[in-house]
Amino acid sequence: MPDGPLRVAVIGGGVAGLATAWRLEHPAAGEGPACDVTILEAAATVGGNLRTETDGRFRVEWGPNGFLDSEPATLDLARAAGLGEALLRSNDAARRRFLYVRGRLREIPTSPAAFLRCDLFPPAAKLRIAGEVLVPPRRDLGQAASRPETDETVWQFGARRLGRAFAETMLDPMVRGITGGDCRRVSLAAAFPRMVELERDHGGLFRAMAVLGGRRRREGRAGRAGGAGGPTGVLTSFVEGTAALPRALAAGLRGPVLVGHPVTSLTPEPGGWRVTAGGQRLGPFHAVVDAAPAHEAAAYHVDPEARELLAGIRFNPLVVVGLAFRREDVVHPLDGFGLLTPSFEGRPLLGVLWTSSIWNHRAPAGTVLLRSMAGDPAWLSLDDAEIVARTCSELDAIHGVRGRPLRHWVFRHPRAIAEYEVGHLARLARLESILERTPGLFVTGSSYRGIAINACLKDAGRVAARVRAHLAAEVLA
Ligand SMILES: Cc1cc2nc3c(=O)[nH]c(=O)nc-3n(C[C@H](O)[C@H](O)[C@H](O)COP(=O)(O)OP(=O)(O)OC[C@H]3O[C@@H](n4cnc5c(N)ncnc54)[C@H](O)[C@@H]3O)c2cc1C
Repeated sequence: MPDGPLRVAVIGGGVAGLATAWRLEHPAAGEGPACDVTILEAAATVGGNLRTETDGRFRVEWGPNGFLDSEPATLDLARAAGLGEALLRSNDAARRRFLYVRGRLREIPTSPAAFLRCDLFPPAAKLRIAGEVLVPPRRDLGQAASRPETDETVWQFGARRLGRAFAETMLDPMVRGITGGDCRRVSLAAAFPRMVELERDHGGLFRAMAVLGGRRRREGRAGRAGGAGGPTGVLTSFVEGTAALPRALAAGLRGPVLVGHPVTSLTPEPGGWRVTAGGQRLGPFHAVVDAAPAHEAAAYHVDPEARELLAGIRFNPLVVVGLAFRREDVVHPLDGFGLLTPSFEGRPLLGVLWTSSIWNHRAPAGTVLLRSMAGDPAWLSLDDAEIVARTCSELDAIHGVRGRPLRHWVFRHPRAIAEYEVGHLARLARLESILERTPGLFVTGSSYRGIAINACLKDAGRVAARVRAHLAAEVLA
């Protein structure tokens, strides 16, 4: 038994690190003693990508727009942190989504009838999409971690099951919009494991939609966003923006939250770890959870092979631009969620969110707030005025924008979002086996098992349980 409490260091005060710390400090009944957790955060504030700029009555997100309300781990944590009343559902009117294709906005169909009517695909492509029911499932699904040669890209999956036109027009912009990345590189099994399960368990996507849709109707859950088989749930945030979550989590932690403490080295010692952060040697800790992005962890991880694996996880750049206009200065009604652009269109913006249509509490009456994303790395070194000018010109081409913006916000993310390239699951399996050589050191966060907030919070619970198991076996035994 240790003399004092169980001490754990969490590196990174993004939402993944904070959630892991929360789960370690607030054990559920039967989970064992609470741990003493120290958070080591490089930046001046916690939250990582969850940062909301408040400017008068405008609220602009630096990173995520929100999360789906379908992951219990996220909702439970938000409520436990006292944010139950602050949860904000996106507006029902914002369910319509658009693609900017061949010079105009076209609505993405969400029903078979709308699909038949839509002009996104020529008739032959529609026939090929409908023919998905006839495409036999692959027999080697679900083995990408142990047999990387069976991994396939989102593009390969889409072209195989639904045809090239579908992959080019729908999957390409979806992956650009979610990761800022390229569906010709992204591993389906790592980034969209649900799709692999649907093909494996039901033989195909339309078959899965029929089965799951019928089940939802019987359970009275029809009509929720996402459509049968796809991700379900309602996009959700907080009245004060996504930053409310890390703020509340940090406020509810008992242990020290040391901001301005970048970790530069980890040293194993008998029974635990020392961590150097902000020039101070801290510890000993019985366990360390590394929730910093993989490319940061690559600089100080103890194992050279792990450093190489971590450094190999690709992150895509993004420039996010928020622009506020007078309502009458934007011609388009902005009656939906926003738009994405397929790469064959060659447009500079990956997508535009019609933020003030999606959410209440984001812009004062009589104004609209748009948030666009550009993925060209050259934009990172442009000055704000140039970025705003280029964005306004593109917004004008798409929506018809007459006046100058009332306000603008430019957020540069040199390494915004992890892109899980083909081979990601095999890389993770190798990383896990290396971590077994360094007991008491764990990794979590959006670099590994899901890039979205929901995935990070789910993984935080999984990793907290593994830390507890380690402490029970190695420290408390
Ligand atoms: C533009 C954009 C839009 C997005 N949109 C969505 C969305 O709509 N929905 C969604 O679910 N997700 C979205 N995401 C993804 C979402 O932001 C991530 O899932 C989430 O923020 C990941 O949290 P994290 O804690 O793993 O990483 P981060 O938020 O990156 O936090 C990591 C923390 O580690 C700290 N750190 C780094 N190096 C060190 C070090 N050496 N020592 C100590 N601390 C260190 C950093 O300062 C940071 O605070 C978006 C991301 C971006 C960038």
